[in-house]
Amino acid sequence: MRILILGPQGSGKGTQAKGIAALHATPHIATGDILREAVSRGTDLGRRVQPILVRGDLVPDELMVDLIRERLADEEGFVLDGFPRTVPQAEALDAMLEEIGKPLDAVILLQVSDEVATSRLHARAAAEGRADDSPDGIQNRLRLYHELTEPVVDRYRAEGTLIVVDGDRAIRDVSASIEDSLAQVGARW
Ligand code: ADP
Repeated sequence: MRILILGPQGSGKGTQAKGIAALHATPHIATGDILREAVSRGTDLGRRVQPILVRGDLVPDELMVDLIRERLADEEGFVLDGFPRTVPQAEALDAMLEEIGKPLDAVILLQVSDEVATSRLHARAAAEGRADDSPDGIQNRLRLYHELTEPVVDRYRAEGTLIVVDGDRAIRDVSASIEDSLAQVGARW
């Protein structure tokens, strides 16, 4: 099963992606986690992306596409979280999956308002102290989501593969909706 999960920062995307992956024993591939790990290990990649992450800017498309190509190469199934974030990334993913004959089974959008997203991110800033959860970082990431990632959402909506889930509910209620939707599209794991 190949699933893509989209949604703004603070939508609960990471939490839900982890939950789906655990429930179905499928790898959770989260680009933010991969990049933060590279930063903490001090690899070449980490040194290169560290200032970008702190500002809440986007890592260049070519770098992300190479990273994902390598990461997806040996996976039969996955829950992909944090990629694609731009239209060129979405085009690259389509081409990659077509090449290996492994189309996506479902694309899930977790929908929350900017107000909910912002207040959750401020709460997370206090709890976790993530470098990009500063007020400027939060604002920049949400701005980039609207500008660059919403066109990706529109692309999947136009293709008819998009499943929209209301993210402004308790974690377990959101999970239940996602599992219902996956069952409806005939997801087989
Ligand atoms: P959030 O969704 O809260 O911004 P993530 O953990 O998904 O957090 O990503 C953290 C940061 O990693 C992003 O702000 C960005 O700098 C970088 N990043 C992650 N995925 C991508 C991507 N697909 N393209 C470009 N940059 C990315």
